[in-house]
Amino acid sequence: KKIRQSLVAGNWKMNGSAALVADFNEKLKTVQCDANIVVCSPSTLFHHFSADAFSLGAQNVSHLDNGAHTGELSLEMIKDAGCSYAIVGHSERREDQQESNDLVASKAKKCVEAGVTPIICVGESLEIREAGNVEQFVGEQLDALTSTLSVEELSKSVIAYEPIWAIGTGKTATPEQAQEVHEFIRGYFNKVDADLALKLPILYGGSVKPDNAQTLFSQKDVDGGLIGGASLKAEDFISICQAAN
Ligand code: PEP
Repeated sequence: KKIRQSLVAGNWKMNGSAALVADFNEKLKTVQCDANIVVCSPSTLFHHFSADAFSLGAQNVSHLDNGAHTGELSLEMIKDAGCSYAIVGHSERREDQQESNDLVASKAKKCVEAGVTPIICVGESLEIREAGNVEQFVGEQLDALTSTLSVEELSKSVIAYEPIWAIGTGKTATPEQAQEVHEFIRGYFNKVDADLALKLPILYGGSVKPDNAQTLFSQKDVDGGLIGGASLKAEDFISICQAAN
């Protein structure tokens, strides 16, 4: 039995509809599973969810309070809409919206202050991996977190290791590749605070499917997953959640 509670979070990205939410509400209602389950849908769908078998998450959130910021959503708003989690620093936003390590860290801090659990994404491109710079790159992403969030705040956070070359590509990291970086991340936090490192959930993300979830999740430092494509079909998502025991 693992020391840490497993967590499986679905990231619907810019996909989904009221009909898909209705399907999830129905199919996940009776799901038996040891892992905590989160669905991060587009914010337009939050109000359609009714299930209490899983928690709701946002895919992004502003680091600012309510005010003159057209198109943004605050923590107050996502909480009011029922979210208890928020993904921050997904690689697609780091790339498309040029989100910096510091901005990601301030979003994560704002989440914790509001009582929302941030799922903080880190991970390298193929270029960085092939140059042998994974630990340096991920280390810098983590440096921004440890300089912005206190140990107490980090202990209310979740890390997701998502190698960019594995996201949406069908090229899953091998269980050994995932474990190697998860161990590096836990070791990094161990230098900050041993108790934090022991308790911090570290999820793997990148082409997790029903047929590879179990071997990935059984790695010592892998505490569950962040699931993109395969979270859009209730049956696949459920079987991935059930692989995390
Ligand atoms: C993601 O976008 O967080 C992700 C892991 O996507 P996929 O599972 O589709 O690779």
